[in-house]
Amino acid sequence: MTVYNFCAGPAMLPPDVMKKAQQEFLDWQGLGVSVMEVSHRSKPFLAMVKECEASLRRLMNISDEYEVLFMHGGGRGQFAAVPLNLSEDGLPGVYIENGIWSKGATSEGAKYLEAQGIDIRNDVDGKFSITPVSEWTLPEAASFIHYCPNETIDGIEIFDVPSHPTAPIVADMSSNILSREINVNDFDLIYAGAQKNIGPSGLCIVIIKKTLLARKGLVKPSILDYALEAQQGSMYNTPPTFAWYLAAEVFKYLESIGGVKEMEARNREKAQILYDYIDQSDFYSNKVAVHCRSLMNVPFWLKDDALNEAFLSQAEQAGLVALEGHRIVGGMRASIYNAMPIEGVQALVAFMEQFAKENS
Ligand SMILES: *Cc1c(COP(=O)(O)O)cnc(C)c1O
Repeated sequence: MTVYNFCAGPAMLPPDVMKKAQQEFLDWQGLGVSVMEVSHRSKPFLAMVKECEASLRRLMNISDEYEVLFMHGGGRGQFAAVPLNLSEDGLPGVYIENGIWSKGATSEGAKYLEAQGIDIRNDVDGKFSITPVSEWTLPEAASFIHYCPNETIDGIEIFDVPSHPTAPIVADMSSNILSREINVNDFDLIYAGAQKNIGPSGLCIVIIKKTLLARKGLVKPSILDYALEAQQGSMYNTPPTFAWYLAAEVFKYLESIGGVKEMEARNREKAQILYDYIDQSDFYSNKVAVHCRSLMNVPFWLKDDALNEAFLSQAEQAGLVALEGHRIVGGMRASIYNAMPIEGVQALVAFMEQFAKENS
């Protein structure tokens, strides 16, 4: 039976990549050892990371004005790294809040500087909605503006990019990096924990405008120091080498299928199939306003919570796993990241249809 894994993270990876990794698990590049067993400073590993970065630069069209860092500590590591590196002149960090992760960033930031949260969530006609980017009122001066374009738990995505005359725009793209085309030049710093759209956990990608590396920031651990990591080629300490290798393979794979443009087309199609089905059903509902629905994480609710357990266990028997919603919000959630094939979404919809029929 084919199993489709809808886990929000660590999430499924492209099967082709996993097979290749399996093939070369014990013997990487004919060295007779695993990629996990070689020095991160060895020639083959350095060549791999160089190509990895080049590949990501091609996929996202990243210019020379940006440094790409491969860091430790996942998304949450960056909740600390951003204020520690970007705090300037005692100015507050501004945190746009549209869900659970962005609020988490505010709380962490508040340890290091004045963290000014701006809640953009609101309810429109009983649906979760957000204030459009063009209507955000941002303070005149700030150390940075932080926001989360895709709220993984809430299923809320922001498609427009904010701007500010002086403060750098920082985006937590942990759950939607590489899922659709963006213009990197609209951002000053993008970060993404790897375990949703890139590779195994333990790695975090940071794309930072080089001019920001000059900021002194606050006293910080060396492993979270952007300037130091940039100077050291992201090897100030031993990097998560296996995760880095797998990320390189995922980038290669993405390029081979036609890059982010093709990925976006597939992602839009997958999301459309699922939302369309939910919207015409009176058994399931999605509570997010249409204009800010996530292409990656689709939370949905059964009309009767008492059926949740039966839904999850029967789904699992049908090979549709990890559909339980986040414990904070309940309900169900289908995470349909890059690696989820359209067949997985079709199988989910077919199952949902059947389940609704049998339980209406
Ligand atoms: C998963 C996630 C994180 C946290 O990532 P960790 O690697 O567990 O620290 C942060 N932000 C967003 C938007 C996420 O989806």
